[in-house]
Amino acid sequence: MNFLYFPKKSLGQNFLTDKNIIKKIIKIGNITKNKTILEIGPGYGNLTNYIIEKNPKKIFAIEKDKKLFLFLKNKFKNVNNFNVINEDILNFIGKRFFSSGVTVLGNLPYNISTQILASLILLPKWPPWYETLILMFQKEVADRILAKTNSKEFGRLAVLCNWRLEIKKHFNISSNSFFPIPKVNSTILSFKPKRSFINLKNPYNLEMVTRILFSSRRKIIKKNLLKLFKNNISAVNELKIDLKKRPEELSCETFYKIAVKYENLFG
Ligand code: SAH
Repeated sequence: MNFLYFPKKSLGQNFLTDKNIIKKIIKIGNITKNKTILEIGPGYGNLTNYIIEKNPKKIFAIEKDKKLFLFLKNKFKNVNNFNVINEDILNFIGKRFFSSGVTVLGNLPYNISTQILASLILLPKWPPWYETLILMFQKEVADRILAKTNSKEFGRLAVLCNWRLEIKKHFNISSNSFFPIPKVNSTILSFKPKRSFINLKNPYNLEMVTRILFSSRRKIIKKNLLKLFKNNISAVNELKIDLKKRPEELSCETFYKIAVKYENLFG
């Protein structure tokens, strides 16, 4: 590969160079001619090349780095169904740009990967405009997304992701498949929006509940739960939760139940 300049750490630039891995990722996407694809952080277009090969209806690639944006614009100037947009993906996600049925693909910039995923989960309109997410995370983050109750990786991220998404693990990728070689290994996950889930008036209430309850992981939940409910002991009792449990011992459903109760009382 020829680089325009030395890869920027601040933009999480680790480019995937292993063609077999790229092909395996593309295969998960099951990209057909009628699909619209959104690629997050295309970089030099290593994955984009293979997406274009499948000839979907439209491809939107969101690249924050101006130089890479210009590079891609030129590289794929003869590809009619390809659009590259020079924007921060976090700004882009909030905009109502698509109607439905989009496949999102991305070897994410790791410094903002959980932020990107959270903003895709917290969209006000549900089902959202995407039908599948195929995303690469650093392995430790993927382990937290996949974590089950009673494990040390279980926390806010798993509670939030399981709320509205079906999660599937595909495979791990060694750090040697990238340039520059990152310090961590990676994992490919895919997600599909759930059709049925516990409805919340404001999804940010779930964020608030998990933030307060996981603020002291090693302590029993009693004190934090009372704090959350502004010392309304009867409301806490109505939840019928064993207050001696630690936050990691609660099921995801219990957190959703707490969030519903919280917003019924406090809006
Ligand atoms: N998909 C490419 C590049 C992955 S590296 C490959 O696998 O080779 C991550 C890419 O995301 C880089 O190109 C980086 O410039 C871009 N990026 C970083 N932060 C971004 C943001 N906030 N919005 C959009 N793109 C971003």
